[in-house]
Amino acid sequence: MRIAVPREADDEQRVALIPDSVARLVRGGHAVTVESGAGSRAGFSDEAYTTAGATIAGRAALASAAEALVSVGVPPDDLLSTLARGAIVAGLLDPAPDAPHLARLAQRGLTAYAMELVPRTTKAQSMDVLSSQATVAGYKAVLIGANALPRLLPMLTTAAGTLTPARCFVVGAGVAGLQAIATARRLGAVVSAFDVRPVVKEQVQSLGASFLDVEQVAAEGEGGYARELAADQQQRVADAIGEHLVTQDLVITTAQIPGRPAPRIITTAMVERMRPGSVIVDLAAESGGNCEVTRAGEVVQHHGVAVHGPAGIASSVPTHASQMYSRNIQTFLEHIAGVDGDPLADPILGPMCVVHDGAVRAGR
Ligand code: NAD
Repeated sequence: MRIAVPREADDEQRVALIPDSVARLVRGGHAVTVESGAGSRAGFSDEAYTTAGATIAGRAALASAAEALVSVGVPPDDLLSTLARGAIVAGLLDPAPDAPHLARLAQRGLTAYAMELVPRTTKAQSMDVLSSQATVAGYKAVLIGANALPRLLPMLTTAAGTLTPARCFVVGAGVAGLQAIATARRLGAVVSAFDVRPVVKEQVQSLGASFLDVEQVAAEGEGGYARELAADQQQRVADAIGEHLVTQDLVITTAQIPGRPAPRIITTAMVERMRPGSVIVDLAAESGGNCEVTRAGEVVQHHGVAVHGPAGIASSVPTHASQMYSRNIQTFLEHIAGVDGDPLADPILGPMCVVHDGAVRAGR
């Protein structure tokens, strides 16, 4: 397969394939063309790509011969217009079914795969970009919080006295939440967590954190994901969390429900009861926020509490985020190259395909 890798938009520091993956794909018989400077913001030079066996090209010549264009974000129109009809586009394509950019991909006769829609099955695990990028986000969220706190995280016993450890509460113990718990524990905080899926309690405890138990609350839905809580359960959770927050220094929220806006868990009134100097890092900011005060891409100071709504957080750790994303894309490309017959009948490609045969298929 002839594969093209573009330089991403200015606000995206990651790159879809790193030289290590390029070398593996080239060894597998594929040809890779990389836009000049594509990896520079993630720490990968044009020379490293050339050594790995890629051809470096300018934007105009990048995609005209490509059978597959792999990206992080939605590729820009000027690039898409140079792709041949029938070519494949794969990346984080923001696949709402009514998205105008999907309609444009369809008009151009391209086939598009949204990496957000990799099925969460064991076989597809190594292509799962949501998990790999959530791992980075969970880790970085704790660093953002630690940096913003007016206190240290660990307990210290020194000649100048004893410092008590910070208390960190993680809401949502999925991929990002578990990584946040592990990171906060490594930094010495006393960590607690809550999730509506009771099955994660043991995972939380095995990382050395305590689980905030709320009686009769369970909302495990399809495929191991959460579903929305019933109204009476929501009230019990709100009461328990509101009470717990009063004693916390750092709160990391990661709660999501697939295909829905993020659940609103921390109200303005709850923030107002928190101790001044406390910090909230809301990883759900871009899908509406778990906290009522959150604004995506901003830090809001409210009643002495700093509420961070980081946007593009995985892009802020571009080397490792790209390394993991690239392995996901490499595995995806190897999979697609090995599929004989109708790709839409394939159990991995079928659910990921959002544009085919001139039409937008069901997205998210
Ligand atoms: P996610 O990003 O959709 O949600 C994050 C967490 O928020 C989840 O743990 C969810 O239960 C929780 N949540 C939702 N509503 C909440 C609320 N009101 N209050 C508190 N918590 C709430 O999920 P994710 O992290 O991407 O994955 C969730 C789970 O899916 C994983 O823990 C795992 O079991 C499964 N998974 C499987 C695979 C695989 O098999 N390939 C890959 C990734 C994840």
